Amino acid sequence: MVAKKQTEVRVRYAPSPTGYFHIGAARTTLFNLLFARQHQGTFILRIEDTDKERSKKEYEAEIIASMRWLGLDYDEGPLLPDQNGATTLLAKADKGDFGPYRQTDRLDLYETHLKKLLSEKKAYYCFCSQEELEAQRQSMTAQGMSAIYNGTCRSVPTNEAAARLAGGATAVIRIKVPSVKLAFKDLIRGDVEFDGALMGDLVIAKSLREPLYNFAVVIDDEAMKISHVIRGEEHIANTPKQMVIAEALNITLPLFAHLPLILNTDRSKMSKRDGERSVAVRDYRGAGYLPEAIINFLVLLGWHPEGDEEVFTFEQLVGKFDLPRVQKAGAVFNIEKLDWFNAYYIKKKSDSELLDLLVPDFIDPAWAGDSGKLLKVIALIKERLKKLSEFKSLAALFFTVPGYPKELLVWKKSTAAAALEIFTGIHTILEALPEVEFQKSRLEAAVMPLCEVKGRGDVLWPLRVAVSGSQASPGPFEIIDALGKTETLRRLEVAISKLK
Ligand code: GLU
Repeated sequence: MVAKKQTEVRVRYAPSPTGYFHIGAARTTLFNLLFARQHQGTFILRIEDTDKERSKKEYEAEIIASMRWLGLDYDEGPLLPDQNGATTLLAKADKGDFGPYRQTDRLDLYETHLKKLLSEKKAYYCFCSQEELEAQRQSMTAQGMSAIYNGTCRSVPTNEAAARLAGGATAVIRIKVPSVKLAFKDLIRGDVEFDGALMGDLVIAKSLREPLYNFAVVIDDEAMKISHVIRGEEHIANTPKQMVIAEALNITLPLFAHLPLILNTDRSKMSKRDGERSVAVRDYRGAGYLPEAIINFLVLLGWHPEGDEEVFTFEQLVGKFDLPRVQKAGAVFNIEKLDWFNAYYIKKKSDSELLDLLVPDFIDPAWAGDSGKLLKVIALIKERLKKLSEFKSLAALFFTVPGYPKELLVWKKSTAAAALEIFTGIHTILEALPEVEFQKSRLEAAVMPLCEVKGRGDVLWPLRVAVSGSQASPGPFEIIDALGKTETLRRLEVAISKLK
């Protein structure tokens, strides 16, 4: 196959809107966009919605929203008429919001090409019924042959086909597939070869207004001047079909790069579900993963940089990423690694950036009014956050007095009576301390003399339990700092009444 010689890089992500934007789709989009950015090229979004039953507007909108959330936006939109009636392409940089290309807006174009192939006798109407096709398949399999279409309708004369159509007969349009080797050079997989003799004549449209995927793709990749098709390995078997169609239409195809499959840890395909694990990007968003973490994680699904460094921003990736370093072997999706990246990017956020990310989706609505307190709590627990969704449970103790058993208030070999005495002492100290002094270092200084008399553990252990309700929590003074005076005294009183 002669590959297109084109200097300008133009790539596309071409989803069928039949489901939510998933992890594999996000990786394909990312690799396309990085490649475009590296070559000062253009990245296009093309919605392949010719399958009327399965395509849904809701999915189209969700795909675009998830792409935007990840920062993977497209650069160009369809031709629109200007004031003089001339058509121009819309580009993100100089226009407002605009839609993606959509195949159902382009049916006239496909129809023109279908008619051309029919008139040139490179394509023909096929009237075989499902039952006839099934019978053909069975008889071929019985003879040990591969089950392909046997070409029955190739010989139906044009006028007879026209008469049958006019009479209301149902038919699909097939393209004649030559019995030749169909070879191409994949930028990732190297030489790939298929045998046209094993393909049979392909259905390219259900009618003039209902083109099928492989046909529309070839026409659009040509019309949109796509230079490189970067897509998942599951499409590799479509490439020879697209070669046959391109040949018939006298079109030169773009270069191809088929990305490795994404695998579950047991090396099964991750295309659907891994047990309870979702593959939809929106579910990762809902669980509190950050776009930066997902991008960083996704780029390593099948690509590895030269050194050991694995933490990259999108901008750094534009400089580093290279298609030839993409591996052929399947890439395992390791959720622990995603969690690690997420925790890393959470820690890098400032407290107020995190506040914006947490409110309102990841907090209890009752906490929303007190940003000052939320900021203190964020500072205290951000080191331990792997996902934004964990915030609610980790932060709860700052907003509601937690329940705990009285025994927890007694440190090691100490006694309830001793603990009671200590709480009474702390209560007196803190009650006397003005509200403005409720800051970690001041609090520490105020309580330290008591620690020196009674012992650190004997004071700080029960204090931590009384203010947090648990033994594993940030230090007591940090908690008190976030709680403020009134709430702290209230919690000490709860502890005192438990011990009495
Ligand atoms: N519409 C195809 C899909 O959703 C795209 C295939 C391609 O990139 O050529 O998988």
